[in-house]
Formats: sequence, structure tokens, C-alpha cells
Amino acid sequence: MTRRRWIADTWTATTASLTGEQAVHLARVLRAEAGMEFDVVVGGHVHRAVVERASEREVLLALHEELSADAALPVTLLLSVFKFDRMEWAIEKATELGVARIVPVLARRTEKHLAQAAEKRVERWRRIAREAAQQSRRSDVPEIASPMQLKQAVALAGPDCMKLLLAETEEDNSLANALRAMQGGDVHLAIGPEGGWTQEELGLFTQQEWRHVTLGPRILRAETAAIAAISIASALI
Ligand code: SAH
Repeated sequence: MTRRRWIADTWTATTASLTGEQAVHLARVLRAEAGMEFDVVVGGHVHRAVVERASEREVLLALHEELSADAALPVTLLLSVFKFDRMEWAIEKATELGVARIVPVLARRTEKHLAQAAEKRVERWRRIAREAAQQSRRSDVPEIASPMQLKQAVALAGPDCMKLLLAETEEDNSLANALRAMQGGDVHLAIGPEGGWTQEELGLFTQQEWRHVTLGPRILRAETAAIAAISIASALI
């Protein structure tokens, strides 16, 4: 059986410490005690580790050899803020599928009350990403950026990055074809809100040299589009 991975809360060169809910779970449910072995993720690296002492406040482990870790997909997802229950679902699934970074975007058609509440939601989104990373045995946790305006978000991509705007209005260029033409580098994928992108936003993307791509003739919900796009990307890059 594959072993569950724990994500270190703090660490030194030779030890890792698990606190909070992780410590409670290890101590209370798994009855962790000195000498037991676990796999621990420390700053993006997975190590075999042995418990030195365990309590519900802190489990301290000695780090042993590094195990091979899978790198995250070189994908940044610009995800327009939409209904929080669906947004949370999308963040969880995008994490399972391996994206490196999620940038919540305040799009023109993001509902006002959601845009206002987004900043306060970030901590929850980060927690969801962390739990999904652990559950899916990732060796890192994707970065969840603070919500930002589209103008800032489109400018994050570096020069050797492929910038792809998912648009239901695009009829010809498919995401798969765009990705097949890629030669290394990172991909940025942008998904619009429930009401879609405005003309002005589409213009901003074009100005910053983002390519419009389609997932096919059907109109997908934003979270479906996000998951489909990441799955296609993970097959092709
Ligand atoms: N404006 C649309 C709904 C937008 S769907 C409407 O008619 O109501 C939300 C987002 O999902 C879009 O902005 C786009 O990024 C993505 N999306 C949905 N269907 C898509 C498709 N067939 N191809 C590419 N992107 C799609």
C-alpha cells in the first residue's frame, strides 16, 4: 500500500514538525509514538521520517532519506471568482490534477458580493489546496495567490510562457492543438466567470498576446472548463 504523506508545518535541516490538526490526527487516531515511520513533505521534497516524540500539540520527526517526488504540472490557472461552492470544488480538483499555481481573478462579471468576499476566502482556499495536495499525495502544495484584478493577472506570465485564454467564442483553435505546438516552458490557462468574459477583457488578453482556445462547441460551466483544460494539459505537456 502507498503510504500517506504528511506536510511539515516547520522544519530544520534534520527534523520536521507537524502541528495543528495533523498532530492531533497522528497522535489520537494513528497513535503515533517514537520510532514509527512516516513520509513527510518538507519544502517540496519528500523524506522518510521517524517519530522522535509525539503529542497532540506537536509530532517531531527526524528526517531520513529523500524519496523521489513528482514535479507539479507547469500550469498556472487563472480562475475567475465564481460561486464559492463551485470555486472550492474547482480548487480541490485542480490541485489533485497537479497545477502549480491558482490565481483567483476578479473579472468584470464576477458577482459583486463574491468579489468583495474573495479576499477573506483565500485562507480557506489555501486550506482546501493543502488538504487536496495531501490526499492526492502531492509532494508540494499549489500556490493560491491573493485575488487580483485581471489586468495584474494577465501580466504575471513570463516571456517564454504559453498564455491561453479559454473562450467559448473561439471556434477554430483547440486547446489541444495549441499545447501540441509547445516547446517546454510554462502554461497559463485563464477561465472566465459564469457570465463569461466581457469584450473589454477579451481585448485586454489579446493585447497581452494571449491566444484564444476552445474546448469544443458546448458551453461548459467554469469549473468544468477548468478541469477539462487541466486534464488536456496534463496529457500533452
Ligand atoms: N458566457 C457564457 C458562459 C461562460 S462559461 C454564457 O453563455 O453564459 C465560463 C467560462 O468557461 C468561460 O469564460 C470560458 O473560460 C470557459 N468555457 C466554457 N465553455 C468553453 C468552451 N467550449 N471552450 C473554452 N472555454 C470554455
